[in-house]
Amino acid sequence: MLYTSTRDNNLSVSSAQAIEKGISVEGGLFVPTEIPCIDKDFLNELKNKSYIDRAKAVLSLFLTDYTAEELDYCITGAYGTGFAHEDVAPVVKLHDNVHILELWHGPTCAFKDMALQLLPYLLTTASKKGGSDKEIVILVATSGDTGKAALEGFKDVDGTRILVFFPNDGVSPMQKLQMTTQAGNNVGVSAIYGNFDDAQTGVKKIFTNPEIRDILDEKGFAFSSANSINWGRLAPQIVYYFSAYCDLLKKGEIANGEEINIVVPTGNFGNILAAYYAEKMGLPVKKLICASNANNVLTDFLTTGTYDRNRPFHTTVSPSMDILISSNLERLLYDMCGKDDNQLRAWMTSLNETGAYTVSDNILKQIKDLFAAGCCDDKATAQTIGEVYNTYNYLCDTHTAVAVNVYEEYRKQTGDTAPAVIASTASPFKFSAAVLDAVSDKELPADEFSMVEELQERTANNAPAQLLALKGATPRFTGICNKEEMRKVVFDMLGI
Ligand SMILES: *Cc1c(COP(=O)(O)O)cnc(C)c1O
Repeated sequence: MLYTSTRDNNLSVSSAQAIEKGISVEGGLFVPTEIPCIDKDFLNELKNKSYIDRAKAVLSLFLTDYTAEELDYCITGAYGTGFAHEDVAPVVKLHDNVHILELWHGPTCAFKDMALQLLPYLLTTASKKGGSDKEIVILVATSGDTGKAALEGFKDVDGTRILVFFPNDGVSPMQKLQMTTQAGNNVGVSAIYGNFDDAQTGVKKIFTNPEIRDILDEKGFAFSSANSINWGRLAPQIVYYFSAYCDLLKKGEIANGEEINIVVPTGNFGNILAAYYAEKMGLPVKKLICASNANNVLTDFLTTGTYDRNRPFHTTVSPSMDILISSNLERLLYDMCGKDDNQLRAWMTSLNETGAYTVSDNILKQIKDLFAAGCCDDKATAQTIGEVYNTYNYLCDTHTAVAVNVYEEYRKQTGDTAPAVIASTASPFKFSAAVLDAVSDKELPADEFSMVEELQERTANNAPAQLLALKGATPRFTGICNKEEMRKVVFDMLGI
């Protein structure tokens, strides 16, 4: 199977090359030129398999230039240990035919682990296949979850270095502690004065600076990306939608071929795009329900066909969805407009220059046939956490609560009661302040670990061991720099 770019159909690369490059030279995203199809027998066969074997079956359809041995090495390495649940991504029944797909049992307690535990294996294998002897340098700007998950994924991986920049005042106390205490001999973490956009812009500048590129090349280094635009992060996410369907089949909750609704709390449109690819492959899906917080640019787009980022940015209790440019939407549009790379370039130029674009009626119709969309604010998010806990005795995090809220509203308004799978993207203990506030009437304690403990006591849920272990831990990385100094921090880490 070959891959091309959403902005240049003349390009043709293998999956390993797409993963190694991360993003295409002209700024487009790599996409498969065709989408493999599966049938009921495929689902039946997968039903009794482990998560690792399901991942091999699904990923071998996309990563055709990796040998079976290579995929076995990569996938077993990623999911064999390191996940606290034997099913890796278990499905839990919330009520009736509504199920929660828990994607946060990995080392950093957020769904980013599902892809970032595998990406380092795929990337280093790709690099070997391509004959490169360069050391791979991963640069990450993060608003919290991606940075920690990338650090855990790449720590002590031979032939790689990883350096993460985070906004000093823009991450939660738990997220900050997770990153500044990171172990590993090839890792670096630095705070920056500024917000997430400053960190992101700084990283992009370093990435695209030809002078820096040359210096690195000379010293035997090459940059790569662990961002969610990398195909190597998207492909692993397709797997868990198949896995969830097979789990429901196995439990007798659905019949083979029965359509399900999939609900995804969405930011960069990566997670829900993976569900879209699963549907295109033949997974029986009725609706993909896109849930947003107060930053509801996607709700508007999916209902009107106009994408418009010219709006206030809201800081919410679901920070990983605080985003106004959902990069992966580009891949959906490419598919829906008949792979018209000229059209994609025009829309993306418009987005760049005016902050907006409008798709055709034909595309809007395709979108509405498959997608539903909704949003809710922080107050409704908190209310949902409380209701879900009181009614079903299930504790969910703020991002998952947005999805539950939007789904319940959808079910009420449409009367669509098809079986539903709601993606749960983080452990509630990663966002203890907001979650505790939603389930308790008491005054919140001041410090993070008192909140974690109180949340455990109040709800009889156990906090993940890896979060509890951070209590009293001494940060290893205390550096903080101005955005102009980021280049120096990178060079210092690489010993240049
Ligand atoms: C990243 C993230 C999301 C958003 O996922 P996208 O793939 O960017 O749409 C949702 N919830 C949590 C907890 C996340 O870390």
